[in-house]
Amino acid sequence: MPKINTQELVCIVCPIGCKLTVEKAGDEYIVKGNTCKRGIDYAIEELTNPTRMLTSTVKLKDSHYVRLPVHSSAPIPKDLIFKAMEVINTCTVKAPIIIGEPVIKNILNTGVDICSSRTVE
Ligand code: SF4
Repeated sequence: MPKINTQELVCIVCPIGCKLTVEKAGDEYIVKGNTCKRGIDYAIEELTNPTRMLTSTVKLKDSHYVRLPVHSSAPIPKDLIFKAMEVINTCTVKAPIIIGEPVIKNILNTGVDICSSRTVE
């Protein structure tokens, strides 16, 4: 009989925040406590390849604002978040810039861009 590991998680896909229990039996994951299928996908992804959307700010020049809010164009691996923040903290952007415009392309070779979250004249 395969060894069973149990972990508890809170699903962060929607505001309901279902409390999930995940049992790993051999190569199989059994998810309980989810209200919808997205909870199953989230739990398995969280245990096998956890990722996060990244939001932050970068320095901004030539504007009356001093910081520009930015976000990742897609989730990035959770274990790269701190390294990504180090890169973001070295970035300075010049106005004008439009919402969605990449300020750092392909951060840490993840294929994900860091993009402006607002338009600044
Ligand atoms: S399992 Fe479904 S309903 Fe529950 S928090 Fe996740 S996405 Fe929302």
